[in-house]
Amino acid sequence: MKVGIVRCQQTEDICPGTKCLAYARDGKEAYQEMGNVEIVGFISCGGCPGKKAVARAVEMEKRGAEAVFLGSCMTRGLPWDYVCPHLDRIKESLKKKLKATTRVIDWTHS
Ligand code: SF4
Repeated sequence: MKVGIVRCQQTEDICPGTKCLAYARDGKEAYQEMGNVEIVGFISCGGCPGKKAVARAVEMEKRGAEAVFLGSCMTRGLPWDYVCPHLDRIKESLKKKLKATTRVIDWTHS
């Protein structure tokens, strides 16, 4: 399955995405149910308030992503215990702009 990952831009300075990428490679944590995944894109939300996340996710979908993972930095506030305050709005927009068949998974790892 082809997937894309969206991450929090605010977190980039302290996390290069190591766990998100390793768990995808190994099919663990949030990726477990997908079997082997191929990452077609690993993008940030573009910074607050995250509007660019939607356009960027659509581009990953055009490149074959069948699922879009929202990084745990956004949805679980890792590693700073700071969940994205714009998360609901971003998810709402993703639902409107992505195909109905494209899954949005709201975590990557614990
Ligand atoms: S919109 Fe959310 S995910 Fe994006 S930089 Fe701001 S806090 Fe992080």
